[in-house]
Amino acid sequence: MAKSFRGGVHPDDRKRLTAAKAIEVAPLPEKVVIPTRQHIGAPCTPVVKVGDLVKKGQVIAEAQAFVSSPVHASLSGKVVEIADYPHPVFGFCPSVVIESDGADEWVEGLPLSRDWRALEADALKDIVRQAGIVGMGGATFPTHVKLAPPPEKPIDAFILNGAECEPYLTADHRVMLEATEKVVTGMRIVMKLLGVAKGFIGIEENKPDAIAAMVAATKGTGITVVPLKTKYPQGAEKTLIKVILDREVPSGGLPMDVGAVVQNVGTMVAVADAVVSGLPLVERVATVTGGAIAEPKNLLLRVGTTFAQAVELCGGFAAPPAKLIMGGPMMGMAQCRLDVPVIKGTSGILALSAADVNAGEERSCIRCGRCVDACPMGLVPSMLSILGQRGNFQMAKEEYDLLDCVECGSCVYVCPAKRNIVHYVKYLKAQNAAAAAKK
Ligand code: SF4
Ligand code: SF4
Repeated sequence: MAKSFRGGVHPDDRKRLTAAKAIEVAPLPEKVVIPTRQHIGAPCTPVVKVGDLVKKGQVIAEAQAFVSSPVHASLSGKVVEIADYPHPVFGFCPSVVIESDGADEWVEGLPLSRDWRALEADALKDIVRQAGIVGMGGATFPTHVKLAPPPEKPIDAFILNGAECEPYLTADHRVMLEATEKVVTGMRIVMKLLGVAKGFIGIEENKPDAIAAMVAATKGTGITVVPLKTKYPQGAEKTLIKVILDREVPSGGLPMDVGAVVQNVGTMVAVADAVVSGLPLVERVATVTGGAIAEPKNLLLRVGTTFAQAVELCGGFAAPPAKLIMGGPMMGMAQCRLDVPVIKGTSGILALSAADVNAGEERSCIRCGRCVDACPMGLVPSMLSILGQRGNFQMAKEEYDLLDCVECGSCVYVCPAKRNIVHYVKYLKAQNAAAAAKK
């Protein structure tokens, strides 16, 4: 029987727009705008200058801290500008603009052909770091950091998050179908690196073809495919760990506190490409979809392609977009412009039509309790929204477990008063972080 968890919601998944559409390789862009900050953690420092000729896969910005990840050219050509450009997460960010030379040549010596089984854990970790791999589900946490838990936190289980529970998104689904072997290879590399024998792949039941493909590809590998009930947010890390391992990540804790590491599907392809072929992370699959897109698609896009270019590859807009989002509608980031670039964490570009958007004015809480029933973390979202209005982060943290909110938006989805609870939670968390920084 498919596994599930307490709470959650059942939004119309709208995946039918792209679920059956094979990944299309986007044509080589004439120009890319590559932000030097693609991840959570310290920004990178550019190591090229205007006028330099670069090859695909060449480092263009170096990481200066452990929690950071280098950035590479996503095509070969000439650096024509280094300046602040719009960024889908950070507002504006120093970016390297490269004009393509049309040759699309890798750095000399790439691609390689390496036997990952012959490499030691430290060498594997170093390859992942140098390849600039970050969590591609949207969180963009540098992967080498997640794969380096301290010795006092032993890891015995690795989970691949194949749930892709966000409505509309089908990029991971297609990658599991079309790059099955690579996903499994990436997973086996990470399991070797972590020294774990137990591997699990959690996939929602609404992807039976992906479940079948993964079951066939993992025979004899020690990896178990776990079908999950189709329910949002089945793919949240803490939810997956509870459902698959029956372990509870403690309040304010991390998966490593219960011996688990969770990674995303696209990230495993990036690991396989880096370790086996020596290729850094310079492209990714993203679902470009929504009621305002003329022809929704799953596209393999170079990092630095603008959202406008990606939308154009899908026939442009069929209707004026009422809302533009990077990622899915529940946890994605609202965008106000199309000239932002695809980054390593761009799982989707969603353009919703007016009919798709559940618009309306926020009203006072009527204490119906629906948000409490929906919250997968067992919180009281209504109180978090009220404390958010009052700016009382201390009470929200100490009495209502503010920091355990995973910002999944299930509470907002069910709220008849259209309370923007996630907005308040983010505000309270920012207040809490600012207060902690002052101490
Ligand atoms: S669902 Fe909305 S109206 Fe109902 S209790 Fe929660 S915040 Fe209040
Ligand atoms: S309070 Fe946080 S964790 Fe709970 S449903 Fe709302 S967004 Fe999700």
